[in-house]
Amino acid sequence: MNTHKLLISGIVQGVGFRPHVYKLALKYNIKGYVLNNSSGVEVVATGNEKSLKNFENELEKNPPEKSKIYSFKIISVYPDKKYSNFKIRKSIKNSYKTTPISPDLNVCDECLEELFNPVSRRFMYPFINCTNCGPRFTIIEDIPYDRPKTTMKKFKMCIKCIDEYENPLNRRFHAQPNGCHQCGPELKLTDNSEKMLFEGNEYSNVQNIFKQISHYLSIGKILCLKGIGGFHLVCDGLNDEAVATLRSRKIREDKPFAVMFPNVEQISEFCYLNNEETELLKNFRHPIVLLKKEKPCHIAYSVAPKNHFLGCMLPYTPIHHLLLHFYQKPLVMTSANISNEPIIYDNYEAYQRLGKIADYYLVHNRKINIRCDDSVIRVFNYKDYPIRRSRGYAPESIELDYEFRSQVLACGAEQKNTFALAKNAKIYLSHHIGDMGNYETLKSFESGIKHFSNIFDVNPEVVGVDYHPDYLSTKFGNQYAEQNELKIINIQHHHAHAVSCMVENKINQPTIALVLDGTGYGLDNTIWGGECLIAEYDKFERIGHLQTIKMPGSTSVIQHPWKMGLSYLYEIFGEECLNLGLPFLENVSQKQMILEMLKKGLNSPVTSSCGRLFDGVAAICGIRNNVNYEGQAAIEFEQFIVQDENQTYPFQISNSDGIIILQWKNVIEYLVKDVLNGEKCSLIALKFHNGLAKGLLDLTIKSRERTNINIVTLSGGVFMNIFLLNKLENLLKNHDFTVFIHNKVPTNDGGISLGQAIIADSTVNK
Ligand SMILES: [Zn+2]
Ligand SMILES: [Zn+2]
Ligand SMILES: [Zn+2]
Repeated sequence: MNTHKLLISGIVQGVGFRPHVYKLALKYNIKGYVLNNSSGVEVVATGNEKSLKNFENELEKNPPEKSKIYSFKIISVYPDKKYSNFKIRKSIKNSYKTTPISPDLNVCDECLEELFNPVSRRFMYPFINCTNCGPRFTIIEDIPYDRPKTTMKKFKMCIKCIDEYENPLNRRFHAQPNGCHQCGPELKLTDNSEKMLFEGNEYSNVQNIFKQISHYLSIGKILCLKGIGGFHLVCDGLNDEAVATLRSRKIREDKPFAVMFPNVEQISEFCYLNNEETELLKNFRHPIVLLKKEKPCHIAYSVAPKNHFLGCMLPYTPIHHLLLHFYQKPLVMTSANISNEPIIYDNYEAYQRLGKIADYYLVHNRKINIRCDDSVIRVFNYKDYPIRRSRGYAPESIELDYEFRSQVLACGAEQKNTFALAKNAKIYLSHHIGDMGNYETLKSFESGIKHFSNIFDVNPEVVGVDYHPDYLSTKFGNQYAEQNELKIINIQHHHAHAVSCMVENKINQPTIALVLDGTGYGLDNTIWGGECLIAEYDKFERIGHLQTIKMPGSTSVIQHPWKMGLSYLYEIFGEECLNLGLPFLENVSQKQMILEMLKKGLNSPVTSSCGRLFDGVAAICGIRNNVNYEGQAAIEFEQFIVQDENQTYPFQISNSDGIIILQWKNVIEYLVKDVLNGEKCSLIALKFHNGLAKGLLDLTIKSRERTNINIVTLSGGVFMNIFLLNKLENLLKNHDFTVFIHNKVPTNDGGISLGQAIIADSTVNK
């Protein structure tokens, strides 16, 4: 007989790991015990050599589906006693806590079967879950992950639930959110003045609730629904009037809404779907997947106006399944928030702040400890290309080939903020925090950092912040570092983008980084955003960039692309530009004022931003003068392209003090000619994209000639543009470059904190 101690770390708690070990122990006649400790799972196993080997092999090769093993250590030990059986022992808490916390998990097939099985005791129980599924991250207050440290602590389990909870062979063994109709959380349907309509968990009641809601949805009403990481606003996705009402009440003019469908089959009636997209929709993370609409697509027009894509998802909580069981149509499902504030996650706040935006409220009494928005992913070249990494992903640590020497806090950027905490080989990227320009988001950012440092036991020694002095995340980081007497590293925005892309691809050598972005504070105090960097983890050189231009009215140009359009024209045609007869300037009252600004250089910072170039060009083409959400003009411009052909506008390369400049001057001239000749916008958009891709290729080739570097990384918000990404990647590969793009974190500012953490760590430990 031999005895082994197994030390297993990774996502091994809250995913049915111990019952799985228990079953395997019975199968192979192993004695001993298994327990959760703060670094993972510990097993002491006694058996003969062959059965021990089989037991360990099977455990390592076939762990429970939702678990993820990072390390599996086997040590031979002397048993402290003779074990007569195999037991699951109580958790022990170590002095330091390092157990990864599982993201929230999509409801599993077995639970779904019970949910709709009239003889199951959880028939229509809206909070059904087990060790393989249910809420995790959003209900955990502290670790180790045990019920008293979750928001389930106030629900006392009934005898039947306790029996399941204590039976190692039961699927609900130590399922912390376990409960049933008798003892679990309860649903409540009210109107928007909090008047109770239905309450209680008896299945007849639950049925009544969802029948009533179906009726409301069918007559165009708007429902506010409490989900897993916050509230959603819900209405019938086929009812244009209902969607338009939701838009006007929420004051959200054009930004697309996501839609939840009862099943994949129904999605395929509206959108094109390939195998990878289907897989992604159905995996346990259940993100929103961006899919191409079919033509014609019968979803209400105002769900995603002027957009060829639709954000689709499948139900991921039992409440969603019940809702779509009774109302089998696509439902708009959008985060419930006030303009740019974070998603609302508290019952009281929901009623207070959303008020009459919704007609009815479906709430419950299980508290959400931390908010978490839906993730948004698209598939590009058969791989995930994240747009927002949040529910289902956070707070899972990102797999890197990097060992942190210091404990790091990275504060992220100003928009689409995420922060990151890192220690040893682990980096915990936060859920989506949002745009920092308001108090609610800042509060969420601060409390999020506190929560993460506690549950992952990270005590930052160094803080990484964006180089922009006015970002709220930077100000917070500075203050935090000062209060705790920590080192602070100021990180150039596009360097952080570049390193995010490098590190997630496990590249640790000098790289040509093309970073195309909206904004980012440059080392020369101008605004950068069309950058070619030679990037390493601890330093970079700006080897080339896009020709610069003035931003008349400073950051206000982001909302008003016509100002950029005018700026490009002025640069080439001077004051004559107003006499060209370009239609987009016809009814603009402030054009003279902006022209004055440009002439005198008033409030007109200089930028090399690629995002602004897209805005300006889109405006000149007449796509739109003003936008309702960031990047709207550029997104619509891309979508004008219908056919991929070879026509192009000529970008040119020049040299200024040793820096390679990508010139757009000729492009604007040709483009203006085309617009004046009444050329189709689809052709202009195509020529511009082709030209830019070719220009960037030339810029990269010049960089290779100077540096002999052959590896290229592509990052920055502009690479959300799939047409450009695809074109450029192909061109580069055809010229023998090795190209890397994002796959684990977003190419936009949501991925910045990853790069910041690496740069901060490698800079202080040079
Ligand atoms: Zn389950
Ligand atoms: Zn119960
Ligand atoms: Zn950026």
